Amino acid sequence: TKEDVKSYLFRNAFVLLTVTAVIVGTILGFTLRPYKMSYREVKYFSFPGELLMRMLQMLVLPLIISSLVTGMAALDSKASGKMGMRAVVYYMTTTIIAVVIGIIIVIIIHPGKGTKENMHREGKIVQVTAADAFLDLIRYVLASPCLWFKTNYEKRSFKVTVQSNETLIGAVINNVSEAMETLTRITEELVPVPGSVNGVNALGLVVFSMCFGFVIGNMKEQGQALREFFDSLNEAIMRLVAVIMWYAPVGILFLIAGKIVEMEDMGVIGGQLAMYTVTVIVGLLIHAVIVLPLLYFLVTRKNPWVFIGGLLQALVTALGTSSSSATLPITFKCLEENNGVDKRVTRFVLPVGATINMDGTALYEALAAIFIAQVNNFELNFGQIITISITATAASIGAAGIPQAGLVTMVIVLTSVGLPTDDITLIIAVDWFLDRLRTTTNVLGDSLGAGIVEHLSRHELKNRDVEMGNSVIEE
Ligand code: ASP
Repeated sequence: TKEDVKSYLFRNAFVLLTVTAVIVGTILGFTLRPYKMSYREVKYFSFPGELLMRMLQMLVLPLIISSLVTGMAALDSKASGKMGMRAVVYYMTTTIIAVVIGIIIVIIIHPGKGTKENMHREGKIVQVTAADAFLDLIRYVLASPCLWFKTNYEKRSFKVTVQSNETLIGAVINNVSEAMETLTRITEELVPVPGSVNGVNALGLVVFSMCFGFVIGNMKEQGQALREFFDSLNEAIMRLVAVIMWYAPVGILFLIAGKIVEMEDMGVIGGQLAMYTVTVIVGLLIHAVIVLPLLYFLVTRKNPWVFIGGLLQALVTALGTSSSSATLPITFKCLEENNGVDKRVTRFVLPVGATINMDGTALYEALAAIFIAQVNNFELNFGQIITISITATAASIGAAGIPQAGLVTMVIVLTSVGLPTDDITLIIAVDWFLDRLRTTTNVLGDSLGAGIVEHLSRHELKNRDVEMGNSVIEE
């Protein structure tokens, strides 16, 4: 009936609007491109998109804190321990699978045929001893949660310095407001400005919020006020997210159109780079369209495509913003409202996932490193490929959920096997685009992970409901 059609349209309004936004944004971008807008004009034109970014950034910080605190407080320590274990096992497994896919695909397709001279670059291979590489690796693995990157994008060179805070001790913060400040700073700098500095200690904040939530969860009556405070803070933030959801399609439209208007001419991209782009897309597709849905199906025996359908707005937001942390508010909303994932699970695993679980980035870093080896005619032995897989995993954990963070942590992967870090410039031209695709894969991985962890933890969740006297909903 007419009513049915109406309610169907309303329920799917977001999906329709979002898809329309991507299509219209792309068309608008390509239509306006020939007019060669100035930098200023592009900035004005992209303003509605910038507004969306800022609104999302505004919510990320209170959202991470309130969701983790309430997520931890809502579980007993045994349940949260088990759930945490499951999440970590899922993160590690999928990240490693992603890296392996990246490596296999780039070896099979071999996009780096020919020589680097074809790519109009010359460069020297830096010789690094095995011992150096090993020490680098250890240092990096210890430092990854709290790297402090200083990036300089210069016209033809790309320098990265790893600064301070290079120990695991950074996961324990001594100053909450400082950690918040750094998190605010990274979220403020979602759009990398040439020569900007991004300081990251998201992990410190995650750890603190979890400890805090754990403590107030065990405080009986005395903790009641705090539990209610964070609960209601979380609720309030989610209501703001609901408002932003309606604006999101407009923002996404302009983010995409603006990027197409300002991007460098694709004409300069040569054969190898085009092949490289295709290789990355194939790798990401295999992981996102085959591996992850299959894993979800094998564990939960539910239809992964229904689940992914509910996530569409989050996925498109990831595509539009290039940032998994900016997408976090929308991911929450999609998982909780469209897919009905238990809030105790989303609150607990999503902020952690957005910080450390990046399948797309891991796949990309391994693939890109081997591509760079290929264009340098640098034969990698088996040991070096293993080193690349380990460092790519570490680098994806260390990368922040902000645009092109993966390009920065690439340096670690390249140095670990003695490849020239300057060659990152070879792939910069297409990174803005590939970044969007890997971010979408990252968000998909986090979301399917939440579904899987919920399924595996259903008994603990039910027991907890019985214990708390909540009404138990049977499956
Ligand atoms: N932009 C990605 C993200 O936010 C990180 C990356 O650069 O790979 O998930």
